[in-house]
Amino acid sequence: MSTSSVWHPFTQHGLNEPIPRVERAEGARLHLADGTSVIDAISSWWVTTHGHCNPRIMAAIAEQAGKLDQMIFAGWTHGPAEEVAAALREIMPESLTRVFFSDSGSTSVEVALKMALGYWHWQGAARSRILVMEHSYHGDTIGAMSVGERGVFNQPYDPLLFDVGRIPFPAPGAEQATYDALEALCRAGDAAALIVEPLILGAGGMLVYPPAVLAEMRRICAAHEVLFIADEVMTGWGRTGTLLACEQAGVVPDILCLSKGLTGGAVPLAVTMASEAIYAAHLSTDRARMFFHSSSYTANPLACAAAAANLAIWREEPVRERITALAARQAEWLDKLGQVYHFDNPRSLGTIAALDLKSGEATGYLNDLAPRLMAFFRERGVLLRPLGNTVYVMPPFAITEDELAQVWDAIGEAVLSF
Ligand SMILES: *Cc1c(COP(=O)(O)O)cnc(C)c1O
Repeated sequence: MSTSSVWHPFTQHGLNEPIPRVERAEGARLHLADGTSVIDAISSWWVTTHGHCNPRIMAAIAEQAGKLDQMIFAGWTHGPAEEVAAALREIMPESLTRVFFSDSGSTSVEVALKMALGYWHWQGAARSRILVMEHSYHGDTIGAMSVGERGVFNQPYDPLLFDVGRIPFPAPGAEQATYDALEALCRAGDAAALIVEPLILGAGGMLVYPPAVLAEMRRICAAHEVLFIADEVMTGWGRTGTLLACEQAGVVPDILCLSKGLTGGAVPLAVTMASEAIYAAHLSTDRARMFFHSSSYTANPLACAAAAANLAIWREEPVRERITALAARQAEWLDKLGQVYHFDNPRSLGTIAALDLKSGEATGYLNDLAPRLMAFFRERGVLLRPLGNTVYVMPPFAITEDELAQVWDAIGEAVLSF
């Protein structure tokens, strides 16, 4: 029995599974208290982009820590926040003119939903329905759960989750059903916004769909003036091969959610970027119309300093070349393994590669295949966290060739063993 009082997320303590203790990290490696190390092949749950303890980001936090730790952001401002907002305006789509800070991906989604509802409310339009895609994940707060897939994760809270309009996942060959459902929901006239994970549904099982589908969904929404919210919390910052996944479809959303890699994955920070029209809908001399959202740590200066350093890295270092090289290696490994072993549905998008194990057992999150696989990988010095029978690799960009080979060798063994 553990003597720790810590209640861990997504952990069934009743199973008494070991909880390794990590002491430090660098690049793609976590160093444990017992002297061993593991390769972090999931970027510590999709946050670490360049690598752990990136020297420029660590130095920026340290420097900021000597100046200003935290301050109220309602009606006050500071240098690092202004720097991040200006840098985001340079690198993100031109029409996203406003930058609203918060502190997690879930919160950035809540903010996006509130902005969309406020936009219609202040125009006196009865549009309050949110449209979502089947199998989506947008976070774990009540609003974010409401717009995500319903299932074992949120079943106890279901009575509190609000009603949404759902469109089917655009499975290959069935794209028209997605368009038709979206068109019908848009025609109903009460839709405020569609929220989507562009090109790949992460927690839903690394489900990929093509840019043309994203572009068509964007077109349908625009035709009915339904706001388009891109949740790029996971896909942003190069994960899919481009800075934003939306770029690959030539899509610019009305509202954009960013978090995870915003600070390079070092410290928590999020932004919701909005078009001028959404900002303008809240603009007035009437205080009742201001945007009512704030969390205590909104635009925390230490986190903003980390984000500013991340943005400088994107401007000054060959990040895109690193991503292209990693994406090519990921695709090669998937291809190489596919020729030797038998597995289902190999797919890759930028730096993300995934495959399904042909386990005879029923699939699904609570199947014990995933924890058994996790333990199997852990014994081989690799941190992977399969989603049901889906094994995916989403490493920090700094992963070395040898480390990546070790990850894929372990997967090759798993394909044989499970
Ligand atoms: C992780 C994730 C979130 C939630 O972000 P948190 O920082 O964990 O709250 C939202 N949307 C997507 C697409 C995500 O992958």
